[in-house]
Amino acid sequence: MNETASTQKVPIVCKVDDLSTTGWVERRDLPQGERFQRAAKIFMVFLAAAFLTVFVPVLHFVLPPLSLLIGATLALNEYAGTGEVVNGEVTCPNCKNKMSLPVETETWPRVQRCSGCSFSLTIDREK
Ligand SMILES: [Zn+2]
Repeated sequence: MNETASTQKVPIVCKVDDLSTTGWVERRDLPQGERFQRAAKIFMVFLAAAFLTVFVPVLHFVLPPLSLLIGATLALNEYAGTGEVVNGEVTCPNCKNKMSLPVETETWPRVQRCSGCSFSLTIDREK
C-alpha cells in the first residue's frame, strides 16, 4: 500500500494525563503548487460570499469585509501548512478505542476527542 512514494510513516504518541499509547500517521509534504491551489480555492469561496452579501441590506456594511478577512486568514493558514496527514491510527489510552485520524493539515501536537470515551487526546510526534 505504498503507491505514493512521497508519504512517510511516522510514529506518534497519544496522551491523556499520565497514560499514553503509541500509534502512527502517514504524512506527506504538500507541494507549493498544491498549497497555493487550496488556498486560492478557499479565498474564492469567501470572495464569492463577499459579493453575494453586498446585496444584503444593512448587513452589507459588515458581511463583505468580514468574509474577505476570514477568507484571507483561512487561505493564508492553508498556505502555511507544509504537510498533510493522509492516514493514521491511534489507540485511546483511556478506553483502548482504536481511532483513525482524519485527513488534515499537519500540525503538532494535535488534540482530538476520543470517539469512545470523549476524552481529549493529545497526539504528538514521537521524540
Ligand atoms: Zn477513549
